Amino acid sequence: MNGCLSIPKSVYCRYCKICGARPVIEADMAGLYVVKCPNDDGHYQTRAGLIDIEDWNRNNTVHFVPTRDINSQISY
Ligand SMILES: [Zn+2]
Repeated sequence: MNGCLSIPKSVYCRYCKICGARPVIEADMAGLYVVKCPNDDGHYQTRAGLIDIEDWNRNNTVHFVPTRDINSQISY
């Protein structure tokens, strides 16, 4: 048994940070689930187990560089 399930629209999930695809859920032979990019297995995928969209979201967050610390690094 091996197939992809799409994630219901009602579930909030981030897009793949590499290609921007909405992730899919794939069930492997052992019945474990992986949340992964539909385009490339090399893009982030969660570890097999329970469906872990939170983990996907955490790992596909684009980290913005926080606004500079105004006080610590001021010029001469
Ligand atoms: Zn991707």
